[in-house]
Amino acid sequence: MADCIFCKIAQKEIPSSLVYEDEQVVAFKDLEPQAPVHVLVIPKKHVESVLALTAEDKAMVSHILVDVVPQLARELGVDEKGFRVVTNTGAEGGQSVKHLHFHLLGGRSMQWPPG
Ligand code: AMP
Repeated sequence: MADCIFCKIAQKEIPSSLVYEDEQVVAFKDLEPQAPVHVLVIPKKHVESVLALTAEDKAMVSHILVDVVPQLARELGVDEKGFRVVTNTGAEGGQSVKHLHFHLLGGRSMQWPPG
């Protein structure tokens, strides 16, 4: 989608620190990391948020959560101690980029409730 920064990252039109890529998904380091490990996992397809997902996206979401996130957690060394996966949605959810993304955060103790 024109003017979507994450579409531009997925299409390599702007640089990022890529840590993973396949046909459907890319993952890259967050520009403003909130933890020692902080990567964003996104579909290459533009989907605004979880609210915009449709039945045809089920395989993509499943691929992200079943395959990509656990693989990255292991590769990034946070699988044993634990990590957090966050998908902010909408204004009160704290979503600043309107392209579906899963934050994978780890490498420190997380607090609850989140701010
Ligand atoms: P959210 O606030 O949940 O929408 O998360 C958006 C995230 O994208 C924030 O953590 C930003 O630091 C991150 N971000 C924004 N632009 C970039 C970029 N060009 N490269 C990497 N991360 C980015």
